This record gives sequence, structure tokens and C-alpha cells, in this order.
Amino acid sequence: MIPTVDFDAPGKQHGFLRLPHSRDDSAWGHVMIPICVVSGGQGPTALFIGGTHGDEYEGPIAIRELAATLRPEDVSGRVILLPTLNEPAFAAGLRCSPIDGGNLNRVFPGDARGTVTERIAAFANDSLIPMSDIVCDIHTGGRTLDFLPFAASHILADAEQDARCAAAARAFGAPYTLRMLEIDDSGMLDGAVERAGKTFVTTELGGAGMARASTTAIAKRGLRNLLIQKEIVEGDLIETPTQQLDMPGDDCFHFAESFGLFDPLVDLGATLKRGDALARIWPHGRTDVAAETLIAKRDGLFLGRHVSGLIKPGDCAAVLASPC
Ligand code: CA
Repeated sequence: MIPTVDFDAPGKQHGFLRLPHSRDDSAWGHVMIPICVVSGGQGPTALFIGGTHGDEYEGPIAIRELAATLRPEDVSGRVILLPTLNEPAFAAGLRCSPIDGGNLNRVFPGDARGTVTERIAAFANDSLIPMSDIVCDIHTGGRTLDFLPFAASHILADAEQDARCAAAARAFGAPYTLRMLEIDDSGMLDGAVERAGKTFVTTELGGAGMARASTTAIAKRGLRNLLIQKEIVEGDLIETPTQQLDMPGDDCFHFAESFGLFDPLVDLGATLKRGDALARIWPHGRTDVAAETLIAKRDGLFLGRHVSGLIKPGDCAAVLASPC
């Protein structure tokens, strides 16, 4: 990976992470991942990432706006902006890379001699994360999931780091703030950042393969709030009401077991009791087969859902969270 920016230089630089990718249509070609670095003297480094999954848009929009508007004279420290980290996936409007099928949030710590996606992860893991103090990776549900907008931190073994990450997630100021117990973080950027001892905030700010005015506004405000909370930019936190949520176990997740028409019986934001009907799945192709009913496995807030009108076995149909 060849950065065209100097991470130690003062001022504002726009450039690329240039990744050699020799292929049929470009023998000495490269993948060009856009990057902006804004440095203004002493202070911590913030790393803001969008487009880890290429079909999620709030992060890229908020980070592009920050790259256009943030001035080095307003920065104490350094802000590294990567609107579309998995650039090949983003350019194709896909979650995973069309080059190698790679899911950038499942290949960490990456491999500097591996596939394109593994090499992007390796550069983030070996170079970008070590130079950063706080990392925010903005996710949404992509084309296939939709979420009530939340910022999240993971429950971490180190109490000081746990409190630091939870405070940053609260400062982000999304309508919902979640504490997540990650049962398996293998391959995720999240775990790579947290194991390095850094402050980490992730989000799910919507989805359905599009950006909304409301959720892009949350992303823009959230990133600005993180810069203010870390004293990289001066100003007052824009505080908005947030509801604290917990996602304590596997019974938050509801998966389809049949193929058919997805018939939601409640919308996102509904409060459910254990045993309530969440949705039905009508088997496709004939009228004499009964619907499968998806039942809430716990009390909770309907936080995330399957998007498409069709659903198949194994798809995540619904996610419930517990209000604290
Ligand atoms: Ca995502």
C-alpha cells in the first residue's frame, strides 16, 4: 500500500491509499482509496472510517463533508478521514468486494501479501490503527438490513477502556446508544482496534441501501461530537436525548427458517413482549400452505429488520434490544 499523503505533515491533504492491483484491464493498475488528513499541531489522532461495507452511505457522506469543511487551524491533533475504505465494494454498491468477494469487516488483521481486501485490512491494522487514539467506523444495515439509528461500544474486560469507549459512544449522540457483548469478533475491525487499547465507537444508522436526511444528520453530528469530546476541535457537544440499550444475548436475533414473502407485523421502534408475533413468512408459489410465524424470543425494542420483500432460510429477520 502506497499512501500519497504524508501522515506527519501539517495542514490539510487530500490523496489516496494506492494499492497495486494488476489485472486484465489494467496491467500495472491500482485500487485508489480516497483519504484526507487534517493536522493542526499537538493533540490526539481520530480515524473516521466509512464504506467498510460498500452499500452503506451515511459514513461516506458525513466523512466527505468533514473532508470538505474541516480546517487545520481548527484542529488540535490529527483527523484521518477515509470515506470509502473498501473502495472496490463501494464503487460497485456492494457489501463485499467484487474483486475477491472479501468482507472487509471479517478479514482483520488482514494479510499484506493477501487478496485486495486482506491488504486493505492489513494496512488499517498495521499502520492506521496504531497511529490513532480514537477510531469510529460508521456502519448501517446496508441493502439487506435496516436499523433504528444507534452508536455502540462493546463490553470490554479492561474497565478503563470500557468506560472510555462507552463515554465516546454516548458523546456521539445517536437516538439510541448500545452496549454490545460481542460473542465472536474474529476478523472484525472492532476487535483489532479494541485489542490495540484504542477508543472505539461503531454505529448502525439506518440502512436499506440508501441514506436518509435524518440519519446522515446523525452521522455528521456524531463525528463532530467525537472531535469535540476528544478536544481535537473546540466547541460544545450537541447533546440530544438518547435511549440506552443492551443486547445481552443470542435471543436478540431472529432468523428465518423458510423461503417466502416477508410479512412484518410490527415496524421498527415497536415494543414487544416475549411470545409476541413479529412477522410471518408466506411460502411462495401456492395458496394452500400456512405461513411461518416468527415469535419474539425476549421482551425488547424492535431495533433492526430484514429489508427485502422476500426472505430466505438463514436471513436475519429481526433484532430486538433491551431498554436499560
Ligand atoms: Ca455494516
